[in-house]
Amino acid sequence: MTAKLIKGTEIREEILSEIEEEVKKIKEEHGQVPGLVTILVGESPASISYVTLKIKTANRLGFKEIQENQPEDISEEALLALIDKYNNDDSIHGILVQLPLPKQIDEKKILNAIDPDKDVDGFHPVNVGRLMIGGAEVRFPPCTPAGIQEMIIRAGVETSGAEVVVVGRSNIVGKPIANMMLQKADGANSTVTVIHTRTKDMASHCKRADILIVAAGVPGLVKPEWIKPGACVIDVGVNRVGEKISEKTGKKIAILKGDVDFDAAKEIAGSITPVPGGVGPMTITMLMKNTLKSLKFRLGIA
Ligand code: NAP
Repeated sequence: MTAKLIKGTEIREEILSEIEEEVKKIKEEHGQVPGLVTILVGESPASISYVTLKIKTANRLGFKEIQENQPEDISEEALLALIDKYNNDDSIHGILVQLPLPKQIDEKKILNAIDPDKDVDGFHPVNVGRLMIGGAEVRFPPCTPAGIQEMIIRAGVETSGAEVVVVGRSNIVGKPIANMMLQKADGANSTVTVIHTRTKDMASHCKRADILIVAAGVPGLVKPEWIKPGACVIDVGVNRVGEKISEKTGKKIAILKGDVDFDAAKEIAGSITPVPGGVGPMTITMLMKNTLKSLKFRLGIA
C-alpha cells in the first residue's frame, strides 16, 4: 500500500483562504479586523524567523499587526507592563510572546499575565482548563494540536470510535491533543492512549492505533512494524539530523526528519504526514485562526 499524503502545505492554503474571506466580510460588516501583537525579546535567529513568518502571514490576511521587539536585557516589570498595555488595547485580539524568554524573566509569570481572552497560543491555565471541559467552553485550542486535529478531519479520517494513540505527553502537543481527541465532539469521540518514556511495550499500543500521533522528538522512534495497516499516521516530530545545500538558494539548510521512519511507514499506513511539509505549516495557520476567533468572540459572532 502507498499511503495518501496529508500535506500541511496544501491544507494551510485552504484554511488561510477561508480566513482571508472571513476577515474581508467582518471588515465590511463590522469595520474591524483581527489585531495581533508579537512580542520578541532578544535576537535569537530561530525566534526572529518564527516571528517573521507569523507577521508575514498576519499581513497577508489583512490583520492589524504590531511588532514589539524588545532588548535581551528587558526587565520582567517592563515586559509585564507591555502585556498590560495590550491587554487594555481594544484593537488587539491576540498577544503572542515568542518563547523562549531570557533567564531573568519568569516565563510562567509572563504567560499567565496575558488576558486569557487574548491568549491565542492557548497556554494560559484558564484556556487549558476550558480545553479540558470541552464544548462551548473552548476558546483557543493550542495551535499545534489544533492543526493536527484539523488535518485529520480534512483528510476525511473517521475519528469517532477510533483508537488514537499519542506518543508524547508534553503540555504543548501530547496532552492537549489527547484531550481534544477524547472530547464528545465532531472530529473527536476517540478512545485515547498516551505513551511516554515509562510506558511498557510501546509497540503493542502503537499496533492498535487507527490514528497514531507521534510527538516525541526522537528521529525514527516509531518502527514500520508498529503501524497498523491502513492507519492514519501524524508525525509531529521535527529533528535536525544534518545539513545540506539548498538547490533553490545555494545556502546551507538543516536536514529534517520526523519521529516515524517515513519511507517504510508509507507502505503500510493508509495516510501519513511528511516531515517537513506536514504538521509544521499548520501551527502558524491555527494561530491566525485563533486570532480571528478572538475578534469574533469580541463581536459576539463566534
Ligand atoms: P517534549 O516536550 O520533549 O516531549 C516529548 C515527549 O515524548 C515526552 O512526553 C517524552 O516522555 C516522550 N518521549 C520522548 N522519547 C520517548 C521514547 N523514546 N519513548 C516514548 N516516549 C518518549 O517535546 P514536544 O515539545 O512535545 O515536541 C515533540 C516533537 O514535536 C519535537 O520533535 C518537536 O520539535 C516537534 N514539534 C513540532 C511542532 C510543529 O511542527 N509545529 C510543534 C511542537 C513540537 P516523558 O514525558 O516520559 O519524558
